[in-house]
Amino acid sequence: MTPLLAAHDAGYLAFLEQAHNEWLAAGRKGDAIGYTFPVVHRRPLNPIRIDAKLGAYSYDAGTPIAAGTWESAYWSAQCALSGVQALAAGERYAFALCRPPGHHAGRDYMGGYCYLNNAAVAARHAQSLGLGPVAVLDIDYHHGNGTQDIFYKDPSVFFCSIHADPATDYPFYWGWEDERGLGEGEGTTLNLPLPRGTDGMAYRPALERALDAITAWGAGLLILSFGADTHSSDPICGFALEREDYIVLARMIAAIGIPTLIVMEGGYAVGDLGRNVASFLSGFPD
Ligand code: ZN
Repeated sequence: MTPLLAAHDAGYLAFLEQAHNEWLAAGRKGDAIGYTFPVVHRRPLNPIRIDAKLGAYSYDAGTPIAAGTWESAYWSAQCALSGVQALAAGERYAFALCRPPGHHAGRDYMGGYCYLNNAAVAARHAQSLGLGPVAVLDIDYHHGNGTQDIFYKDPSVFFCSIHADPATDYPFYWGWEDERGLGEGEGTTLNLPLPRGTDGMAYRPALERALDAITAWGAGLLILSFGADTHSSDPICGFALEREDYIVLARMIAAIGIPTLIVMEGGYAVGDLGRNVASFLSGFPD
């Protein structure tokens, strides 16, 4: 549990572990899901009813808790930790096929079918092993709002996200260009929103800018939140990357020459997903 506590609130973890049991104990059936969200004037409270907890620890209604959710999320995070161990043992690249994904989960909230922030847990673990300095680059179609929040005031982790403009796309309330970090963390968050319709050629300058910033900051280890929902065939997204673009992007990332843990995030064109991910991974040297 210790590595999880480095990125998440203890009360939130206890909630996640027990939520489905509490849901059943309250006489409910199926998946646990909130129906009221204290987004306005949110302040620390200790909710008692499961319905209150579900709202307090989430920001959307797209993140149900099923009987196996905790177990799945726990082992998904462990998968990312194993990736860090591989880098610590000297591997240059590792791929953590995390399911469920994690980049929408914040320190004390779930959202976007993310429960534990695998990338953030991995980043904290890498720091604890003395690896780094650690940068997180998020190239999922959607902004990595949970990861951003976890490191927003923290100058020790550089966070950069390339994603669909939140004016048109989920998660809407995060990922705007003027979000640059806060307090001591000001300047260590970089958001590069792109318009719907962005194809591989239009994507590359943003990636170049992100990699330049990560290099200039002095990153020694990269956690890469990778989503293949940027593909042209993705049914819920609006970019137009093709399979061969992923090799190019991977080569660009590999060219900065720092150990990289690739953490799987989204991707909904399930028929193409395996081949798209394989294409991306093939761009990294053996
Ligand atoms: Zn996504």
